[in-house]
Amino acid sequence: MTDEIDVVDCTRCAELCASRSRIVNGVGPTDAALLFVGEAPGRQEDETGEPFVGRSGDVLDEALRDRGLARLDVRITNCVRCRPPDNRDPRAEELENCRSHLEREIDAVDPDVIVTLGKVPSEHLLGRSVAVTAEAGSIHDVRIAGTPRRTLVCVHPAATLYDPSQRETFAAALDAAVEFVDGGDQSQLGDF
Ligand code: URA
Repeated sequence: MTDEIDVVDCTRCAELCASRSRIVNGVGPTDAALLFVGEAPGRQEDETGEPFVGRSGDVLDEALRDRGLARLDVRITNCVRCRPPDNRDPRAEELENCRSHLEREIDAVDPDVIVTLGKVPSEHLLGRSVAVTAEAGSIHDVRIAGTPRRTLVCVHPAATLYDPSQRETFAAALDAAVEFVDGGDQSQLGDF
């Protein structure tokens, strides 16, 4: 199954191909109920080949632990699988180039809820502009590759490092995600 999801070679983005050390695929169970989607690998992710292993990853791991979850209980991936140079935001064409990889992963994992970590993944998957702090914790049904999917907006873990006032927002959104998979009403999905 991982073979179906993992990208072993991709040359769609010339600049990212030149700057990356490796492609950073998603990690975690291929049948996870919770799928976290970040923006793009950073330096440590590029070095190790694993998403969210730097400081943002520490924040995410700790938040999962606080809710009785291990990193291995959830799936973690990014919109873009190659590190943008100087940690710049991925460009629109890079997001589009990588979209089919992400869609294939979402289809294979078929999660109960997709948690979008920050502005880039939230806007990429919701297909509109998103005020992440204001909308954090809100659930939205969207079609992704033609299939109805439930997404939950969350602030990026890094935001809690730069702005401590975001910690509560981050925590509340994660609570909502865990609550949702533990017993939320999932019956309406597909009715839109
Ligand atoms: N690390 C990732 O893998 N993704 C992010 O969005 C940030 C850090």
